[in-house]
Amino acid sequence: MDTVEPLEPLVTAYDGLVCDLDGVVYRGADAVPGAAEALQELVARGVRVVYATNNASRVPADVAAQIADAGAPATASDVVSSAQAGAARLAQKLEPGSAVLALGGEGAVEALRDAGLVPVDPSVDTHGLEAVRAVLQGYGKQLRVSDFETAARLLTTGLPWVATNDDATLPLPWGQSPGNGAYVDLLASALRRRPHVVGKPHPPLYRLALERLGTPAARTLAVGDRLATDIAGAEAAGIDSAWVLTGVDRPSDLVAGGARPTYVLGSLDDLLRPYAVSDRDGDTWRCGTARVTPTHDGLRIAQGSAGVIEVVRAGLAALLAMRDDPAGSPGGREKSVAAGAEALDRLLDDV
Ligand SMILES: [Mg+2]
Repeated sequence: MDTVEPLEPLVTAYDGLVCDLDGVVYRGADAVPGAAEALQELVARGVRVVYATNNASRVPADVAAQIADAGAPATASDVVSSAQAGAARLAQKLEPGSAVLALGGEGAVEALRDAGLVPVDPSVDTHGLEAVRAVLQGYGKQLRVSDFETAARLLTTGLPWVATNDDATLPLPWGQSPGNGAYVDLLASALRRRPHVVGKPHPPLYRLALERLGTPAARTLAVGDRLATDIAGAEAAGIDSAWVLTGVDRPSDLVAGGARPTYVLGSLDDLLRPYAVSDRDGDTWRCGTARVTPTHDGLRIAQGSAGVIEVVRAGLAALLAMRDDPAGSPGGREKSVAAGAEALDRLLDDV
């Protein structure tokens, strides 16, 4: 069977894009090379783009400014935050103008206000807490132990509790710091209850992004670098996903986890090119002119004139088939899959 190469750029199948930020558009303070140009081109072609972020501490205008600094087109209304998804959830449950404890940063305060609710600061006096009808919890650098105590006191009475996201860690230049999920666990362990969580990988943030885009789910693509949040979240929300290899996760993370992205991209630029799908030919997996054959200790790779990303696609298809093959011998299979994935990791690191 010949591989049929599509001629249209991948993005032609979509009207809207829900784009992740860190690891896709920028990495910390640095722009991801080529990402801004690709986004400009996508917008010029009429694709609608919103940026969905689990970061609830910053206000959308600040996030948009950082995107614009990286050279990509963005205004505040193009940013959909987990704080906004949390506030929207509470606005559905509460009367307009209800008081909500804002256990978080400026992003949570602004989102509540924009949703027609009244944010209450945890440092308010006991009298001020009486009107509070719910708690919105998001990451806030200035939060104090006494703020968590105030939240616990309210939540112990059974008030609705929404958390913006449950990321266990917050990546900082020096390593991993506790993320909002760690602070959620802190309260949850005392209260023996858990909040409703709206950020990725839970569907509400993506649903809000779809609403903002106004594009049908079937014509909308989620793009992100993290399998357990961006890609799993898209799956939960019922939209296609593109996993971009400019961020943290590597092929070995894909074979070790359960997420299945619709597409695997080297960079955002690949959205503007036809997408070569991998297929099987006997023991060999093909993608474009790349040929990858599983062996007992990994993968035999013939790159031909193909790019690294085609090798990675063919390799991942081979490894996932091997991993999920019930006929294979489990012990040896796991080892060869891990060795093959590490070979793909190294291939990407050498680019
Ligand atoms: Mg990311």
